[in-house]
Amino acid sequence: MKRVTIKAVVDKDLCIGCKICQKVCPVYAITVIDKKAVVQDDHKCLGCANCADRCPKYAVKMVEREDPFDVGVDVSKFDYSKIREMCEKAHLNPEQVLCYCVGTRAEEVAAALLSGAKTPEDVSAMTGMRTGCTIECIQPLLRLVEAAGNELHPDPDGYQWYGETVTAWTIPEEVKTKYQSRGFYFEEDKELLDKIVKINAKEAE
Ligand code: SF4
Ligand code: SF4
Repeated sequence: MKRVTIKAVVDKDLCIGCKICQKVCPVYAITVIDKKAVVQDDHKCLGCANCADRCPKYAVKMVEREDPFDVGVDVSKFDYSKIREMCEKAHLNPEQVLCYCVGTRAEEVAAALLSGAKTPEDVSAMTGMRTGCTIECIQPLLRLVEAAGNELHPDPDGYQWYGETVTAWTIPEEVKTKYQSRGFYFEEDKELLDKIVKINAKEAE
């Protein structure tokens, strides 16, 4: 759940239509039309300030909203066993916080995916996740998007990162063999992480 209190406003006189803002927006809220950036749907902007931070002409300003609103998915409306199943497939505990900027937990992302989100941008639009720093939470988000049965497609026209990094579960055997004698404990790490996925289950309360 995120409270959206600010929004992006473009000064068209300063904008040169370079499309950087469009490429870095995590919810595709800002687009360039006729060589000028525009936020077409005011409520699509979730106030991350990515566009303002990266605009080379300082053409985007973040301003306070007169109509602050909340974005989020109500987890209680979903079958929690399905949420847990999806999270476990992604090697995540449902109660684990994935986005520290917004406070989004894995269970809320799973709920967004269960209600039809297909891409990281869909999840961000529904939950507000990845609209803070827009960087740190992308990897667990990708894992959940995949666990929901969606394919990850690189965005040909953007800077959104759709590549997954290696995890404790996918690290190649030759790498494990090479480094395990040098103080790395790959199998032990994986076992511990698997235990974390299972603890504090809401069903067990
Ligand atoms: S980054 Fe700035 S200059 Fe470039 S299109 Fe967006 S608003 Fe215009
Ligand atoms: S969501 Fe972020 S990047 Fe997109 S228009 Fe709003 S402030 Fe800019």
